[in-house]
Amino acid sequence: MKSTIALLPGDGIGPEVCVQARALIDAVATRFNHDFAIEEALIGGAAIDAHADPLPPATVAVCERADAVLLGAVGGPKWSDPNARVRPEQGLLKLRATLGVFANLRPVKPHPVAAKYSPLKPKLLNGVDLLFVRELTGGVYFGEKRREGDVAFDACRYSVQEVERVTRKAALLARGRSGKITHVDKANVLETSRLWRSTVTRVLRDEFPDIALEHVLVDAMAMHLLTKPAEFDVILTENLFGDILTDEASVLGGSMGLLPSASLGDGKAGLYEPIHGSAPDIAGRGIANPYATLLSVALLLRHSLGLDREAVAVEAAVSDALDARVLTRDLTRRNAVSTAEAGAWVVRRLAE
Ligand code: ATP
Ligand code: MG
Repeated sequence: MKSTIALLPGDGIGPEVCVQARALIDAVATRFNHDFAIEEALIGGAAIDAHADPLPPATVAVCERADAVLLGAVGGPKWSDPNARVRPEQGLLKLRATLGVFANLRPVKPHPVAAKYSPLKPKLLNGVDLLFVRELTGGVYFGEKRREGDVAFDACRYSVQEVERVTRKAALLARGRSGKITHVDKANVLETSRLWRSTVTRVLRDEFPDIALEHVLVDAMAMHLLTKPAEFDVILTENLFGDILTDEASVLGGSMGLLPSASLGDGKAGLYEPIHGSAPDIAGRGIANPYATLLSVALLLRHSLGLDREAVAVEAAVSDALDARVLTRDLTRRNAVSTAEAGAWVVRRLAE
């Protein structure tokens, strides 16, 4: 199969982990006999330095002709002056809009090694396998913002159509898993949540009668994630609640360096990135954990290229690396390996 993958390393540890991702993509192509063209382009602070634009037209062009986009991370202290005219994060927001992605996927499946670093008891983490589906384009982050003297307003806005499309996405994903969706809202007080609740209920009843549905209030869900995380599977929610709950759930995974994400739209290319940021405190030292980015490659293979067997092989290779205690400094004090050593181990395993 011939596919084009846009690679946007970005800033901080982004380029370091993306070097490993690139080698892994090449290894997948060799082992499974695919033809992957990788096109690299600038985003974020690196693009501001070169072109005074966090998402230059050349990068947009590369992403628009790609089948999928893999991103490292954007941002850092060099570009964080609040008065700056352009900021690295604007590049990411514009890229999401360009690709038309509206569903953010974050799987959380703690590996036993990483579970050691979680504040939760191992017994609680047993069998945890969550998939968050967070709406990415609406809600309070994008509603009208206004000041009236001492009073400030942030409007939360959602349309039926916005809820329908992300619900369908979640339902299709649930079909390949346990067939159950937990929809999280605050329908006891918010009108947008009541719209969400009725729309999710109708779409599942009419189009996905095979999927089981439960509604849980967001405050209760914040608690359940820490008391009984193994009881949930696909968790569907709006933008703000999803932002908060996915960060909370990342603690279950043990380390920021282990969690991948995908952002999907309708048919267009998806955007894949580790959940961690540019980690300026460790950038340039060759010690960053590359596994979250390698697992993002697995999501890319599965969701944009339709290569599930290849995705499973990548996930197995990373899991084997953790089993074999090939661990970067965020996961161990003794015998830590470098970013390059961890990446090379996974590539070797995959090639076997
Ligand atoms: P951003 O605003 O870009 O999300 P942040 O400050 O919220 O950045 P990160 O950049 O993800 O968060 O870093 C948070 C902490 O986690 C830092 O101490 C960083 O060194 C550590 N960290 C993040 N990613 C990794 C990784 N891949 N390997 C090792 N440590 C990491
Ligand atoms: Mg952050």
